[in-house]
Amino acid sequence: MRVLQVASEATPFAKTGGLADVVGCLPDALSRLGCDVTLVIPAYREVLSKGFEIEHTGLSFEVPLGTRRLQAQILRGRLPGCSAMVFLIANDECFDRPTLYGGAEDYPDNAERFIFFSRAAIELAARQDRPFDIIHCHDWQTGLVSAYQKLLYRSSPMLSQSRTVLTIHNMAYQGLFWHWDMLLTGLDWKYFNWQQMEFYGQLNLLKTGLVFSDAISTVSPNYAREIQKAPGGHGLEGVLASRSDVLRGIVNGIDTTVWNPGSDPHIPRLYSAHDFDAGKYAARVALAARLGHAAPDARPLVAFVGRLVEQKGVEFIVELMSRMAGSGRAHFIVLGTGSRSSEEALQRVAASFPGTIDLIIGFDETLAHLVQAAADMMLMPSLYEPCGLTQLYALRYGTIPIVRATGGLVDTIVDTTPETLHNKTANGFSFTAFDSLALEHALTRALDAHRNRELWSGLVQQAMGQDWSWDASAREYLQLFRETQARTPATVR
Ligand code: ADP
Repeated sequence: MRVLQVASEATPFAKTGGLADVVGCLPDALSRLGCDVTLVIPAYREVLSKGFEIEHTGLSFEVPLGTRRLQAQILRGRLPGCSAMVFLIANDECFDRPTLYGGAEDYPDNAERFIFFSRAAIELAARQDRPFDIIHCHDWQTGLVSAYQKLLYRSSPMLSQSRTVLTIHNMAYQGLFWHWDMLLTGLDWKYFNWQQMEFYGQLNLLKTGLVFSDAISTVSPNYAREIQKAPGGHGLEGVLASRSDVLRGIVNGIDTTVWNPGSDPHIPRLYSAHDFDAGKYAARVALAARLGHAAPDARPLVAFVGRLVEQKGVEFIVELMSRMAGSGRAHFIVLGTGSRSSEEALQRVAASFPGTIDLIIGFDETLAHLVQAAADMMLMPSLYEPCGLTQLYALRYGTIPIVRATGGLVDTIVDTTPETLHNKTANGFSFTAFDSLALEHALTRALDAHRNRELWSGLVQQAMGQDWSWDASAREYLQLFRETQARTPATVR
């Protein structure tokens, strides 16, 4: 099966979050199942400046964008350690910028940039010498690809038999733009209606993808259910419910070569489930040194690593630390970057407890690995969480997740109770209420459990022994692709 993956980011080329990790791993996992996979991403400045082996293909073509025509230059590279070919679409006006999407504010021309990218990607597919069976798109940035395939490219010999699949990584980001951006798409205004591309007077690129794709997936079964209802669907619950017959939830895998305490170059002492105590202690010493402390204290280390935004429950973490940091029961470390209000709130509470809270504002992949290895517990009090990767990395590093039971956290984390301990399914602590007291209660249960060394060791070993590699997830994607290929696509008017 020939599969084209189209996405706006992919590890290790360019990353702002979990989407990149998924897109960076899935091609290899699908290749190992016999698929012939090609990936297309934008040639951002960040990608070109990282020293990857990237060459010009010599192919270049014009892409219509409203009344203008923009040049797309096609570059070629490879995903490290994987047979999948990567095409990079270069256009300096669109992608030669300091960041992927903008800073505190999105770039004002993100509609142009990703309409251009989507149109260039489908044009590139049409110019290949062998057809693609599946075009697998990710998130709003590629929402238009399925519309182009169905409306503009249905007579292309390379694309007429292709099926499109859209994976939603987060319903909160929909690519909403003012209605005049419809002109940039080159599609007929008749599609700008509430059943197809319009959302309350605006152009909605995610909705476009949901409507025109032959199949839809999201990154966990529980999130697939949540998004068919308010508030999980962020206004698109009706569209999703109407497509429930082709909507599937598939939990993300993790890159077990990158996230592996047995081979991680970012940690001072490699470890496994049998000697996690020694490995974690060494990581804790290294982390303390890195943060300028003389030595680590003896308290359990409770961590948060992630984007500092409302979705991640940062407010709960601030409230939790304000109440608990004075108790002396735990040391906290927060690594993240995000909204100014979240960063400032964290800075205030960290300044009040300098010996107990370490706050690192920034995006630091190496430190993320060290924190995962050093910490005893990982907080994820998310308001919603499509899948979540951080808790899966935590499990692998023997860092027990403390999560709000939402989205993919429900599918991956089993609360510790006498029963789940007995049947060996426990791997974390979870709570449901939408407040910091519930988080505090879960953390207190975890800290109590941590005092029981035998119980805690069993829990850590159970967590570290679980398999969250891509193999099972890739098999589910392949099954989805096969089913989608076998279905006759709906005709679009
Ligand atoms: P999301 O995609 O919503 O941001 P996930 O848990 O799915 O959340 O994935 C987050 C990814 O980004 C993980 O790989 C995590 O380690 C990484 N990450 C987030 N913030 C930081 C940071 N400040 N420094 C290093 N890595 C980070």
